[in-house]
Amino acid sequence: MVRPRVAGIVTRVTSDFEALALSPALLGVVAELGYERPTPIQAASIPVLLAGRDLIGQSKTGSGKTAAYALPILQRLDLERRVVAALVICPTRELSAQVARDFRRLGRRHAGLTVVELVGGQPGRAQAEALRRGAHVAIGTPGRLLDHLKSAALETDGITTLVLDEADRMLDMGFGPDVSSIVRVLPATRQTALFSATFPESIAVLSKSYQQDAVRVKIDEPEGTRAEIRQLRMTIDPQDRFHALCWLLDQYPHESALIFCNFKATVTELTQALASAGISVDRLDGDLEQFHRDQVLARFRNGSVRLLVATDVAGRGIDIHGLDLVINYELPQQAETYVHRIGRTGRAGKSGVAISLTTRGQDARMRAVEALTGEPLEVLPRRERGQPRLDVLLGSLARRAKMQTILISGGRKDKVRAGDILGALTGATGGLEARQIGKIEVQDRLSYVAVDKGLSQIAVDRLNRGRIKGKRFRATLVDGPASRGEKQSGQRR
Ligand code: AMP
Repeated sequence: MVRPRVAGIVTRVTSDFEALALSPALLGVVAELGYERPTPIQAASIPVLLAGRDLIGQSKTGSGKTAAYALPILQRLDLERRVVAALVICPTRELSAQVARDFRRLGRRHAGLTVVELVGGQPGRAQAEALRRGAHVAIGTPGRLLDHLKSAALETDGITTLVLDEADRMLDMGFGPDVSSIVRVLPATRQTALFSATFPESIAVLSKSYQQDAVRVKIDEPEGTRAEIRQLRMTIDPQDRFHALCWLLDQYPHESALIFCNFKATVTELTQALASAGISVDRLDGDLEQFHRDQVLARFRNGSVRLLVATDVAGRGIDIHGLDLVINYELPQQAETYVHRIGRTGRAGKSGVAISLTTRGQDARMRAVEALTGEPLEVLPRRERGQPRLDVLLGSLARRAKMQTILISGGRKDKVRAGDILGALTGATGGLEARQIGKIEVQDRLSYVAVDKGLSQIAVDRLNRGRIKGKRFRATLVDGPASRGEKQSGQRR
């Protein structure tokens, strides 16, 4: 049992959204999103924030902390006033994007709600223009927020709530001074919520300097369950499998996700269904030749493709780790296979989520899995079938990858190193900026480099015209099933 501990204020911790004094509109949205009951951090934080008090929330990503602050902010927002009323500072662009997405989803009944993302790596001018047109909630990373404050594009007078999300990571990443410069120019009467997975002395100091009389909420986890992998299961009707998968992909934010099927035919079918909805996906099964397998894996590792659908045969021994999401589209026959599959998430100190779709009658198999892993899987509540509508889910998932992969016909044995490729793409001849270039993987006889999608053709042309280490190599774009000469039935572009 996970119990919130609330210090400094007496709050009734409830297991019911209705008891949280949220508006009917927000209760409606929460129900639509399938949230049956508040998570412990939500139950403890929402009343504190609605009461206007400062809060320190100690909880991890995955605990529902975003909604814990987004719901009270939305509830207290005056949509008539087109001024930034809430500012959320995040350590990374990825978290900013997730938070913005959550605000938009939870605010879907707030007509006219405007949420802006102020992060690096995107044109500052467009962001300033969005601010000029008027926004209610601003979410961003410290450096870029500071730029917009300095240029006065971001006005602070109307800010009533400040959120510091993943504050410990923010300090670890050296953003302390930037955060301090931002907070200094905000109205002193504001409410400040600080969320942090850990509570080192530096966070206590941060709280003392930026907060007043803050209520501290800590979610106690029972011993022995601090696993890096959160394991969940959801029982579905077999006909509802695809719909349920789309719902899960939409619910659990991920940079990249691996989806396991038991059969090759299911892999093909599922990949096509996702691709034809415009979702960034590729497949890995025993039918692919080694050369293409390598390409698929390189693209998945460097973020050129976000979803990978695989069989166990294909998935064995592949070099992919630290994924944030693994889904068992079908429960494997063997409990050992389950353990292999989910072992791809949450490595190297990163936490991950592993979710299994199960059907009635699979209890014995589930028990075998639980006996092997030594703990019961968290059970996700059954969804109302058909909700939210499939076309709505597919629309929300149809995000293309930001990067595209280029294959270069030279590798280690040709004395090519990552730095040489970076050099060829940047500088006077390459013309690209280092930040437009992603992961570079040099293998024996070939290399893969990820570049911003919009610039990939230019990069290929420049690589083909120029030289690397004084030698000419061939560069080509690698682009999923189509570039392998496979027919993509019904794929929309
Ligand atoms: P977070 O910790 O904010 O990253 O949230 C983790 C995930 O849990 C998000 O995908 C939310 O959509 C989901 N979530 C948040 N609150 C609830 C809830 N009360 N019930 C079910 N899911 C939730």
